[in-house]
Amino acid sequence: MKKIALITGGVGGIGTGISKKLAADGMFVIANYLIPGSEIPWFEAMAGAGFDQTCCDAISTDVSDYAATEAMIRVIEAKHGQVDVLVNCAGITRDASFRKMSIEQWRQVMSTNLDSAFNVTKHVIEGMIAREWGRIINISSVNSVKGAFGQTNYAAAKAGILGFTKALAIEVAKKGITVNAVSPGFIDTPMTQAMPEAARQEVIYAIPTRRMGVPDDIANAVAYLASEASSYVTGTNLAVNGGVHLYQ
Ligand code: NAD
Repeated sequence: MKKIALITGGVGGIGTGISKKLAADGMFVIANYLIPGSEIPWFEAMAGAGFDQTCCDAISTDVSDYAATEAMIRVIEAKHGQVDVLVNCAGITRDASFRKMSIEQWRQVMSTNLDSAFNVTKHVIEGMIAREWGRIINISSVNSVKGAFGQTNYAAAKAGILGFTKALAIEVAKKGITVNAVSPGFIDTPMTQAMPEAARQEVIYAIPTRRMGVPDDIANAVAYLASEASSYVTGTNLAVNGGVHLYQ
């Protein structure tokens, strides 16, 4: 039986890379998405990599909404079975200096980047405990520990993800479930393509490897943490950032 992997925000830049990699590793991959139509290029990308709808599916839900997320999980279970591997990848930025940040910008980022991890994990964890196997991988960010100008909301939410990861890892370790975080640095996706070119160049200059990451860099880390090979690795935060964390 194929393991079932659910990736929230799975149709995004990093999510698509993770989807292709986990499908290549033999999993049935389900990408959650928010914006109607955004699943179309994802299905095309999956097909281009050789994965048709016998290996993957996509489902639309706002994972910042607790009740909607529970309903999404019940649909997935009825259609495909229980989730074995959960990648909490949905995320947004709403940057502004703290003095200019609105309560809406704060709440949107907290609910999408942090509450979502609670909302989805809550509804898959009992099945993992019953089967005594599970992998939960939470996508944080290098800015969770570094901080960044204009990102009090994002850094707080992503640091929250690290605390969530460690506490849950302790709670479920005996049950064959690992919970880990992956902290990307600057990865070339729509999220960072929105930055002005001058800012992108400045960012690249500050990366020891002198290149932005690509979604495959993150996908390879996630694939390891989703595999059998990582069964003794839990509660960790894997920094995938070209060495940026060394400048902390
Ligand atoms: P992206 O914008 O390409 O993908 C994010 C996806 O999440 C999008 O498809 C978006 O529609 C989806 N999403 C947003 N809100 C949602 C919601 N409420 N419900 C369901 N889906 C929702 O961005 P990306 O670069 O692929 O980022 C993926 C993850 O990696 C995010 O958590 C992001 O914070 C994190 N990250 C990215 C970078 C980077 O440099 N790109 C760096 C560090 C961390």
